[in-house]
Amino acid sequence: VLNEEGIKEKQENLRSPICCIMGHVDTGKTKLLDCIRGTNVQEGEAGGITQQIGATYFPAENIRERTKELKADAKIKVPGLLVIDTPGHESFTNLRSRGSNLCDLAILVVDIMHGLEPQTIESLNLLRMRNTEFIVALNKVDRLYGWKTSKNAPIRKAMKQQSIDVINEFNTRLTSVITQFKEQGLNTELYYKNREMGETFSIVPTSAISGEGIPDLLLLLVQWAQKTMVETLTYADKLQCTVLEVKVIEGHGTTIDVVLVNGALHEGDQIVVCGSKGPIVTTIRSLLTPHPLKELRVEGKYLHHIEVKAAQCIKITAQGLEHAVAGTSLHVIGPDEDVEEAKKTAMEDMESVMRRIDKSGEGVYVQ
Ligand code: GDP
Repeated sequence: VLNEEGIKEKQENLRSPICCIMGHVDTGKTKLLDCIRGTNVQEGEAGGITQQIGATYFPAENIRERTKELKADAKIKVPGLLVIDTPGHESFTNLRSRGSNLCDLAILVVDIMHGLEPQTIESLNLLRMRNTEFIVALNKVDRLYGWKTSKNAPIRKAMKQQSIDVINEFNTRLTSVITQFKEQGLNTELYYKNREMGETFSIVPTSAISGEGIPDLLLLLVQWAQKTMVETLTYADKLQCTVLEVKVIEGHGTTIDVVLVNGALHEGDQIVVCGSKGPIVTTIRSLLTPHPLKELRVEGKYLHHIEVKAAQCIKITAQGLEHAVAGTSLHVIGPDEDVEEAKKTAMEDMESVMRRIDKSGEGVYVQ
């Protein structure tokens, strides 16, 4: 247990929390991500948001700007927030289960007009199984009959503009959602009424179309992460890195897209990756991210990096990656480390992935 001094010191060396978005189809996961990104594009490049491989990085500066109406300026201590862009991906189901494994926290999106739906419950169970903390975004509040839009406003400010009928409908639907969560064995409460964070999960009403509640959602994510995850979020030299996808890219051969959860990677690092035909020992040729403001999966031009520090999503090019297995860890072989030992450690992870495949019946990890 850390004393106050210890916590303070650690908070100065935090990495960005990694967040994923989950929920039933059509609840607005993609739109919510667009909304968080889009506003900043309109505001110009000062936002500093960068597109990564399958993720978007929001620097603290940007979050501070977005949440200034909530007057929380001094409270943001992490360098930023990395949001994994799982929705819309072709192997969504698999990425989702992998995604929640490597995420520090999640946004569980619920459509206020529909309440809990089958995939909401599926996502919920996955999050609970992996002990991932989450915040509920109760989305599409603008669809409440007679809703008056106040673009990108904090939710309490937006609520003050509403008629009594809108507030009544909101309360009825909110109560119903809280009851549905209770039926799943989960306590939930509107975030600004929640006095037992950790035991009771917070609900943030949002609109991904007009942006109400987005400042609240961003701030809550960051503050909660800072408060409850100081240990996990402390920047460490020890590498924690997972292979998300194995892809052939023209001009680069077989590449791996990885999530760097903690530590740092460098060009020229010797690495071990799990392969379906045994461990792969190779050297990082290049560390790539897409150019800023380019579409996520546009192929071709990438930015090269000599070093990347967590948390980031990046593409690694190296020789011999053809049989790399997604969902496994990547290891860097240190100068004093034994290659054979590193190979063994890497393949232990492979066994656990195989076990997961057996259990879930998902064979997609093997290329
Ligand atoms: P996903 O399947 O969860 O990624 O859902 P999408 O982001 O694709 O959204 C599904 C549909 O709901 C689209 O037609 C969106 O425009 C719409 N939608 C998403 N969020 C909102 C919202 O906050 N308000 C309204 N009115 N529509 C929304």
